[in-house]
Amino acid sequence: MSRRRAALVTGGGSGIGRAIALRLAEDGFATAVLDLDTEAAERVAGECDDKGYEAIAVGGVDVSDRAQVDAAVRRVRTELGPVLGLVNNAGVTGFKEFLRITDEHWDRQLAVNLSGPFYCCQAAVPDMVDAGWGRIVNISSSSTHSGQPYMAHYVAAKSGLVGLTKSLALELGPRGITVNTIPPGFVDTPMLRGSERRGLLGGSVDEHARLSPVRRAGRPADIAAACSYLMSEEAGYVTGQVIGVNGGRNT
Ligand code: NAP
Repeated sequence: MSRRRAALVTGGGSGIGRAIALRLAEDGFATAVLDLDTEAAERVAGECDDKGYEAIAVGGVDVSDRAQVDAAVRRVRTELGPVLGLVNNAGVTGFKEFLRITDEHWDRQLAVNLSGPFYCCQAAVPDMVDAGWGRIVNISSSSTHSGQPYMAHYVAAKSGLVGLTKSLALELGPRGITVNTIPPGFVDTPMLRGSERRGLLGGSVDEHARLSPVRRAGRPADIAAACSYLMSEEAGYVTGQVIGVNGGRNT
């Protein structure tokens, strides 16, 4: 990488976000690990630091709160420089029979999974426009390919994120900014194991993995590898794309 660039990874304290933060730090981004969970963000920033990579923790930030997002991005800009890379990864899952989804459930899904990325993009894009260079990757979900029973609120929010991705890509392309989405499928993270424990998967992670075309569950590093490419200089001609990383479960 020719010049110093800062990247912000939301939900960077756990699972897929942690793997992405570590990978981008290794790739040479000065990396901000943002998470609701302060200790988790500090742990991951510490892991980067132990490996000699530049990273800071931005803990206790809820991406669904615009004021908190704006303050977090200001802090990253001050400590690491202009935010030229953004990975909107923070997300919450939801599982409810359709008629039992309350307004509160619906609003929370949209707030975290769709408004969060909207606020983060609005806070970071001015830095990218000033630089004439930027990379945004939105982590959506393979359920946006297929739909998912009992997850209408989650899938609706994540499908909105796919639409945000495509529209922003067209609008920001002329400014040197690419915007893509990775919809992960069945990645072994605390979120997936939580769903397994609550009996929401219709079988164990191992049982599902055996039925997957590649015969294993996804690893957070699988998503991080795709993200690393999309955030790179050489991915400048890839924008507005949905890059599925799901072991062939969705084609
Ligand atoms: P995870 O292990 O639960 O990690 C998500 C991280 O985001 C947690 O550290 C969580 O903090 C944080 N977070 C949640 N709400 C937040 C908020 N409002 N503001 C800031 N941070 C927040 O989940 P994961 O499996 O790695 O998922 C990462 C992304 O991939 C999510 O967007 C998810 O929807 C998507 N995804 C995952 C899979 C999969 O198979 N794992 C499949 C499809 C899509 P707390 O722990 O404090 O809540």
